Amino acid sequence: MSFRIRVFALVLLIAVTAIGLTAWLSVRLTAGQFAESQQTATRNELSTVDTFRTYALRHGTWAGIDKVVQRLSSTNQQRIRLTNLYGQVTVDTDHLANRAARPVITSPALIDPRPTLVFPPAELAAQASPGVEAKVGNRLEAVTLQNIVEYRQTVLFARCLTDLFATPPTLTTNRYGIPVGNGKTDDLGCGEQVREAVAVDAEGDMSYVVTCRGEKDTASCLTKAFGERVASFAPEPLQLFLGAREDDAVTLIGRPGLIAGGGVLFLVILGTAIIARHVSRPVRDLTAASRRLADGDLDARVTSVGRDELGQLSESFNRMAAAVQAAEQAQRRLVASVAHELRTPLSNLLGYLEALQDGLVAPRRELFASLHDEAVLQRRILDDLQDLTLAEAGHLTYRRSDFDVADLVDTARVAHLAVAEAAGVRLTAATAGPLPVHADHDRLRQVLGNLIGNAIRYTDRGGEVTLRAFPDGDRVAVEVRDTGCGIAPADLPFVFQRFWRADPARDRATGGSGLGLTIARQIVRDHDGDLAVQSVVGEGSTFRFTLPH
Ligand code: ADP
Repeated sequence: MSFRIRVFALVLLIAVTAIGLTAWLSVRLTAGQFAESQQTATRNELSTVDTFRTYALRHGTWAGIDKVVQRLSSTNQQRIRLTNLYGQVTVDTDHLANRAARPVITSPALIDPRPTLVFPPAELAAQASPGVEAKVGNRLEAVTLQNIVEYRQTVLFARCLTDLFATPPTLTTNRYGIPVGNGKTDDLGCGEQVREAVAVDAEGDMSYVVTCRGEKDTASCLTKAFGERVASFAPEPLQLFLGAREDDAVTLIGRPGLIAGGGVLFLVILGTAIIARHVSRPVRDLTAASRRLADGDLDARVTSVGRDELGQLSESFNRMAAAVQAAEQAQRRLVASVAHELRTPLSNLLGYLEALQDGLVAPRRELFASLHDEAVLQRRILDDLQDLTLAEAGHLTYRRSDFDVADLVDTARVAHLAVAEAAGVRLTAATAGPLPVHADHDRLRQVLGNLIGNAIRYTDRGGEVTLRAFPDGDRVAVEVRDTGCGIAPADLPFVFQRFWRADPARDRATGGSGLGLTIARQIVRDHDGDLAVQSVVGEGSTFRFTLPH
């Protein structure tokens, strides 16, 4: 997959995942949180109502409720407001915290501190029986009155204790569901007060008369009548408001939503950062490596990963770096070789010139001839070097024409006959012409001349050099075979290298530059051909090149 598509796919994947995850989390958390907070609010409201109602039942008064309110509010971290049915504030935690009361957000819950009179089923059972109805009605009325009085006493006693000690009495619930004292009212110093109040009630306006006879449902009529009678002395009903407008959003979805959103954002940033890092790493590696290469560190390479565009770029960079390194090394070797090649003949020349100057050697004719040869060799080395440099750079110009290679071979034989004769070597040619080629005649003559010259040079007196030219498939082959000293197998790979000589001392003496074969092969290759050698030490060598027709 291409780099661009991969980056695109990755970014798309991250975006889609992030969006999906965010939406999923938001919906889940919000819905869950909302339902949970609704339940919690309801539970909380019910238990708060219960707490306050119990307080009123036990204390017989709302006095001191502010402490309970404050404690509950700080436990639940919630604003609590209690008002009576006319909206007058009994206690508000906003006021307790010395700030203006905030608007309320929920409808109020009613706290009715009056106990409910409940007749045990056994006592009601007789009610339905005909004949005993009136009797039961009388009895239930009596029970109701009794409970009103008892509850009145309980309220008075509890209020007295709350006033005196701020501690409620221990109450129990009688069989009709009404809280009553445990009978130890005297011990606590409230008995007298309660008795007096009850006596005043009995004498005064406080009439507890209940009349439900003739009602269809005597029991529920009495329960209602009980509630109405005790309302005059029970603590008044209050309205409970929980929470305030500004609490809402934050507690319901704000905080968890923010945490989830932040978490997703963090994950997205982290994921993107990791992927961006991963994706851009090869680019950074390449940048660093090219900087090092530019600064001269030719060993700089990058680890190429994968087969995408970046992998290919890394590989190309490595190849380029290797080529630059090879070129640099080749150049260094060439300079070293050239320096080495020129130093010896120059030192020779210099030595003789100094000796002549100092009169240490006689200026003989042979000496000048030898020094001249030395200078000629140096010029040849430089000429060859220039040819080679041009050829290797592809700048050597070729003037191509159509000619017969058989003619070229015959001409070259004739040209070298004198040298061969002088060396005592038999030079023969066998050509199967015509062998037409389209090539640079002079350059190929140079190649052939170099091969024949070498063959004669490395063949001992009495040996033989044979030239052959013949068709080879769709190509033309030219062979120079000698019966000379041959080349050792270990040396064969180096034959075409610049300045390589099997025996430097001897070969230099014969005027070889060590560049001849290198140039010859370059010229043949520039003609889409190739030059190769086969050789057996002591038997001779065969240099063979082929050219296209
Ligand atoms: P040079 O100009 O010194 O001859 P070349 O590049 O032509 O340089 O040859 C390189 C070396 O290859 C020679 O020095 C010689 O050692 C070896 N060589 C070339 N031709 C032959 C041959 N026909 N027989 C044996 N050795 C050869």
